[in-house]
Amino acid sequence: MEIAIIAHDGKKADMVQFINKNKHLLEKENIKLIATGTTGSKVEAVGIKVKKMLSGPLGGDAQIAARVAEGKTQMVLFFKDPNSSHPHEPDINMLIRICDVHNIPLATNKATAQLLLFGLDEIK
Ligand code: PGA
Repeated sequence: MEIAIIAHDGKKADMVQFINKNKHLLEKENIKLIATGTTGSKVEAVGIKVKKMLSGPLGGDAQIAARVAEGKTQMVLFFKDPNSSHPHEPDINMLIRICDVHNIPLATNKATAQLLLFGLDEIK
């Protein structure tokens, strides 16, 4: 099962902490993580294996949307920063839409992401 992780700059530290905290769940479930470029680098830096796409503003969110559309990615954990604006907002909205089109669980904050990971067994 492939899970995509994305975090805006103001939420990257939260994402690293979240992934670290849930390491046991992610390892146990034989899960593959993919991430937008910079988020992926931060997560890698704490010893977690992740396949990196392009950075978000360079098309990383669009790449993840394509993987969702192709059935390769089964969950998206996206720590959005509601207090900043982003040049690649159209890509972000596209990713959210594609998740809805394909009925893919999408969390846009830490609390929801945690509930999704607790529910992993339900969607495998
Ligand atoms: P990043 O992209 O992980 O490369 O910073 C995230 C985003 O802003 O969509």
